[in-house]
Amino acid sequence: MSDYLKSYPNEKGYFGEYGGSFVPPELQVEMDKITNAYYSISKSHEFISELRSIRKHFQGRPTPTYFCRNLSNITGGRIYLKREDLNHTGAHKLNHCMGEGLLAKYMGKKRLIAETGAGQHGVALATAAAYFGLECEIHMGEVDIAKEHPNVIRMKLLGAEVIPVTHGLKTLKEAVDSAFDAYLKDPVNTIYCIGSVVGPHPFPMMVRDFQHVVGVEAREQFLEMTGELPDTVAACVGGGSNSIGIFSGFLEDEAVRLVGVEPAGRSTKIGDHAASLTYGTPGVMHGFKSYMLQNEKGEPEPVYSIASGLDYPGSGPEHCMLHDLKRVDYTVADDEECLDAFYTLSKVEGIIPALESAHAVAYAMKFAKEFPRKSILVNLSGRGDKDIDFIVENYGFRQ
Ligand SMILES: *Cc1c(COP(=O)(O)O)cnc(C)c1O
Repeated sequence: MSDYLKSYPNEKGYFGEYGGSFVPPELQVEMDKITNAYYSISKSHEFISELRSIRKHFQGRPTPTYFCRNLSNITGGRIYLKREDLNHTGAHKLNHCMGEGLLAKYMGKKRLIAETGAGQHGVALATAAAYFGLECEIHMGEVDIAKEHPNVIRMKLLGAEVIPVTHGLKTLKEAVDSAFDAYLKDPVNTIYCIGSVVGPHPFPMMVRDFQHVVGVEAREQFLEMTGELPDTVAACVGGGSNSIGIFSGFLEDEAVRLVGVEPAGRSTKIGDHAASLTYGTPGVMHGFKSYMLQNEKGEPEPVYSIASGLDYPGSGPEHCMLHDLKRVDYTVADDEECLDAFYTLSKVEGIIPALESAHAVAYAMKFAKEFPRKSILVNLSGRGDKDIDFIVENYGFRQ
């Protein structure tokens, strides 16, 4: 696995047989422009030093790595958290949104455009747009707008225009189409910003590169704290950006086991979970090839997770390759395990995790009980303030 980051993806955007770019010719022209711009701009000294400065002064990086003494006392083992919940805006998504915004600035773009489901990506991108003084247009299904009111307010306060999508099921899928249509009307002034390591090349590579900082920091911090590397590194997998970010710091350390945790939801029936690497099959969707939950016609199946940030019917192409290579193990945590981790971490450590991140914490708690002599480092991808109303309304104050 040496020189891994330089070897993948190949020049056509493939991670093994996954990834690539399956888009209409007029969109391919734009993807090629972004790819070329990224390759030249991201290597310049100016870009790198500006991104460094943003991370330090605006985002508050490096985020800490933290030993959960209380939790480890209960479970056995040693559980550590990489605190992306302390990254500005409370989650890891700002890492790639600031990178995408900086690229837009260097490309002379005036406007950022994206879709959002639960609103997390929209808020992170609106934050980046405000920072760079760019316009921001977020497409969001009407159903999601009603469900995710606080994030809609946040986006508007940050100066973004939220475009309601009123056709079809009025959720994420329609929002994607709407955002792509709007983008193609003015690709000269606009750049499309994808919210995870998914979509056509170059996005899985770019977003991975911008999230790499998480793994680099965590590895250094863990070594400094303990004098050794963790036995296992775990992270939740929706599209796969926070997990690839932390994994990419450890891929070349062959003794470190990497575990991606997918949402098993409420049952193994299709429509009740969103575990595409665990239960899916290879196919093409949203412009790239990956493991996906699909019907016989190759269309995405409905998905569900208690954590809205994880309910995506595919996974980043790099994860698909790492799955086949068996370099990363993929497993699942269900809603109940996620809830248990959510309540436990809040109460014993004073850290309310995002429901997405709680899936990885759930795995860590199981691991620690099973291997009391081992250490596990979890990417705590975000804080759970966004989830508290939903949790208390539906599940109350559990002990
Ligand atoms: C969006 C989100 C995720 C899932 O996205 P990935 O691309 O799989 O990382 C995980 N955690 C939080 C807090 C999120 O907001």
